[in-house]
Amino acid sequence: MNPENTVKSLLREGISFSPPFTVSDLPYKAKLDQNEAPSDLPEDVKAILLDKLKEHEWNRYPQPVMYAKVKEVFAKIIGFPQENIILTIGCDQLIQGAYLILGGHDRKALVFEPTYPMFSHAAKFNQTKVTRVQLAADEVLTKNHINRSNYHLIFIVAPNNPTGTMPEEGVIEAALSKDSLVFVDEAYVDFSKRTWAHLTKDHPNLFIARTLSKSCMAGVRLGYGIGHPGIINALETMLTAPYHLSYFQLVIAKHFNLIQPYLKDLSEGIVSERKRVTDRFDEMGVSFVPSQANFILFRVNDPPAVFQKLAEAGVRIRSLHSIPGLAGYVRVTIGKREENDLFLEKLRAILTT
Ligand code: PMP
Repeated sequence: MNPENTVKSLLREGISFSPPFTVSDLPYKAKLDQNEAPSDLPEDVKAILLDKLKEHEWNRYPQPVMYAKVKEVFAKIIGFPQENIILTIGCDQLIQGAYLILGGHDRKALVFEPTYPMFSHAAKFNQTKVTRVQLAADEVLTKNHINRSNYHLIFIVAPNNPTGTMPEEGVIEAALSKDSLVFVDEAYVDFSKRTWAHLTKDHPNLFIARTLSKSCMAGVRLGYGIGHPGIINALETMLTAPYHLSYFQLVIAKHFNLIQPYLKDLSEGIVSERKRVTDRFDEMGVSFVPSQANFILFRVNDPPAVFQKLAEAGVRIRSLHSIPGLAGYVRVTIGKREENDLFLEKLRAILTT
């Protein structure tokens, strides 16, 4: 047997070789493909954080007591009791964690598509059965979509990626009346300003997942969850033992108060740029899905050609046309003003030739 077949025969059924996740590495002038923030923290703030990082002995493990202390500080900054908080390696680790503690081969999860692919991807690794409800790109999630039989896990993304839409009012409350853990992904909350986190107090089956990736800090890989202490404890038992975060993530979490004002400014800037871009879309006759996030899904006749021509002009956007429900769409992340201008200028040229 060749080595590849030997390895394949060792892997559990359903675990397959697939190409690694890649993103174009062509040179670019505007990077509008990954829903990142367009600006970094100011140099002086980075210098302070770097000094804090230097205070630690990098030859030592970050002791569990450090995680506990950092969590206490972080919880105070965001205004929740520390027993309701977990710090993780991005929001992705929370999605994987939810499947680890609630999924399994005899368990079921509900996902509304099109959405962030990790909800289906992570399910494969512990054989959870996922029901995917297909919505149109511009269709809003309603209570009718929730009225289904029992699931151990219901994933609701608010606002959703890649559509930018919010669920209809009352959907999350309707889901909470079920015997399910309702996992609300608020990765883009800084742009929507709409949260359900306060409901965790009265709803032990509500879990909120957030990340620092979208408003500024994608390179840090820091996420956090808010939920009932029982859920937090199960997740921590599974994910944090004994030291899952590096000093870098812990320093960022501990000094989040230094970072918060910049996140606020950045997200406000993004929201006003989002409006400027959609106003230009209206002028250009480009149809788009109204977004509450830091990206916009818009319609074009030939998505692969538009993607390619923009890439050749140094503007990277996300091509999504092979995803069910998104055949006529591409997604652009809101960038800096000059990046958005370049994108709009090149798009206009492509659409008018
Ligand atoms: N949830 C959603 C809805 C996302 O779009 C993303 C990133 N694209 C994530 C979670 C992952 O976040 P993180 O970078 O914190 O792992």
